[in-house]
Amino acid sequence: MADGPGGPARVAEGLHLVATGPSNTYLWLDAGAVTVVDTGLPGQGEVVAEALRALGLDRGDVRRVVLTHWHADHSGSAAEIAAWGEVEVCAGRADAAVVRGDAEGRPPLVTDAERPLFEQVRAGVPPAPPCPVHRELDDGDRVDPAGEAVVVATPGHTPGSIAVHFPRLGAVLTGDTAADVDGQVVLGPFHVDRAGAHRSLQRLAALGVEVAGFGHGPPRLGGAARALATAPDPLG
Ligand SMILES: [Zn+2]
Repeated sequence: MADGPGGPARVAEGLHLVATGPSNTYLWLDAGAVTVVDTGLPGQGEVVAEALRALGLDRGDVRRVVLTHWHADHSGSAAEIAAWGEVEVCAGRADAAVVRGDAEGRPPLVTDAERPLFEQVRAGVPPAPPCPVHRELDDGDRVDPAGEAVVVATPGHTPGSIAVHFPRLGAVLTGDTAADVDGQVVLGPFHVDRAGAHRSLQRLAALGVEVAGFGHGPPRLGGAARALATAPDPLG
């Protein structure tokens, strides 16, 4: 899976994972354009730039940033990366105002089982610098003009959570609707609407993909649809 020691890891053709602290960033290389899906915590821009160099690219090759949701461990370096050049920043419509810094993000309804993890995680996540959003995404929108990457609305984790589906690759990037914890695909933690997150998880399972990349944890490189369909909610 690894492209090089400590470098980006191949998830599918043209799709690479970069570990940006405790959360994942993905680089999608298509027709000479680089799309960055999620950006990690604040201050991870150089990690992403290093990964691009390992792939023979440069930070000036980034054309687009897609944010699966507003949480700062995903949107934290978006403003930094957006400043690299002509970069279009895209986010789910209902999260866009939070990414811009024009609205407060709604905190999750934390379950008793989630509480200790939530306190621990919150302490390690500084707020994200505000970032312009140039395009607000809705369900079914094409990320790229050719439609190789398609938006799947997955409300629940946040109101504007989205996944990115690559039909030709048989792959999906789930954001935090799902996660891999110790080799098990699970419903991710910390949702504003847990029932909605469960429905969104099943929607992702119904895509029938082989490959899934999560916001946290290693990707699933085979049998992802079944793993998503049967994912438990251990902290529910
Ligand atoms: Zn999140």
